[in-house]
Amino acid sequence: MSEALLDYRDVWVYLQREGNQLSKESLELLAAGRKVADKLGQRLVGLIMGHDLGDIAGAAVAYGADEVICVDHPSLANYFSLRYIDILASLVRERKPNAFIFLATEIGKDLAPRLAYRVRTGLATDNIELEVEDYYNPQLKETFKNLMIQIRPDFGTRVAKIYTPRHRPQMATIRPGNFRPSEADWSRKGKIERVEVHEPNRVYSAIVKEIRELPRTGVNLKDAQVVVSLGLGSLRDKDGNPRNPRDAYVLALKLKEAIERRYGLKTEIGASRALIYAELKELEGSITKENQVGQTGTTVSPSVYFALGISGALQHKVGMQKSKRIVAVNLDPNAPIFQIAHYPIVADVYEFLPEMIERLESGGSGK
Ligand SMILES: Cc1cc2nc3c(=O)[nH]c(=O)nc-3n(C[C@H](O)[C@H](O)[C@H](O)COP(=O)(O)OP(=O)(O)OC[C@H]3O[C@@H](n4cnc5c(N)ncnc54)[C@H](O)[C@@H]3O)c2cc1C
Repeated sequence: MSEALLDYRDVWVYLQREGNQLSKESLELLAAGRKVADKLGQRLVGLIMGHDLGDIAGAAVAYGADEVICVDHPSLANYFSLRYIDILASLVRERKPNAFIFLATEIGKDLAPRLAYRVRTGLATDNIELEVEDYYNPQLKETFKNLMIQIRPDFGTRVAKIYTPRHRPQMATIRPGNFRPSEADWSRKGKIERVEVHEPNRVYSAIVKEIRELPRTGVNLKDAQVVVSLGLGSLRDKDGNPRNPRDAYVLALKLKEAIERRYGLKTEIGASRALIYAELKELEGSITKENQVGQTGTTVSPSVYFALGISGALQHKVGMQKSKRIVAVNLDPNAPIFQIAHYPIVADVYEFLPEMIERLESGGSGK
């Protein structure tokens, strides 16, 4: 590694808040950063920006940060990328983190590429895993020691490992739902530093006057305890006869209601992208992009995930493979979804669903 790169130290994570707390996703980010920092033998530094940050920094320490940098200023009360980026870029130039990880949330996806451009480094987006390894580059005939390796779904069925050996910080975004937060340890001690805002009176060509939340849709996949997902397998039954996918949707709704009634678990309907993109008029308004699970939809990690008539393409799997229990129902015994299913069931969704609902409603175990 070149001398200049040796100046870069520590793993930084960009923390986000939800009201007066760290967001749930930020706890995952701290766990991801902790893993990388431990493997590198470096410190984990949380960075949080905004106004009236309260004791969010203390919580970040409890969840694994060794140090927290707080940038707290009235001018940061409303998120505004240009302002935030100026501050981030000056902190990175001054303090030289070795790695800087963001969440692949709307804010993370806005900040990370802008910052990478400003500080002239690379960025690997949407990672589902991070590792630390040595990397031998055959063209350069050089081994790069202790790199953060960024792992993300590629097109088709591949997973890409991305090595960015020659620039610092190594920057990444991680998809929520792929890292399990650590247990909070409120006795952990960490350094909390409040830094002054760089150029507090700087005038920008735009100002943010107000931020309004979009009205929430009825589907909240992220927080669901059970997800019942349908795929293109709902278009035909086991004999190949075309079926009205509305029938499968109604059965999935009945299963959702039966689970909620019986176990009190918040249940949502999910879908594969192929089913949504088929734009079937029978499902109009019932299954929309909001229901999509996967790489370009929502990442979920419920207690139970039902994959019904879903083949298990990589882009679907990366959005649900961290579910605690996966029940997969498919006619094809070789369907890739069975590789990750805890309960692989070779069956027709049109037979499985009524039977499952009947068992739950009649007080059976549902097993
Ligand atoms: C860049 C990119 C991003 C993508 N993002 C996503 C994403 O976010 N989410 C996503 O889901 N996909 C995504 N995809 C698409 C993905 O590659 C697959 O095409 C899609 O997941 C397939 O959906 P499916 O499993 O419903 O359909 P299919 O692959 O057609 O599978 C249908 C399955 O149903 C089974 N089946 C048929 N009839 C029955 C029956 N009666 N009972 C039981 N089983 C039956 C079949 O054996 C088959 O396995 C993306 C693709 C790309 C290129």
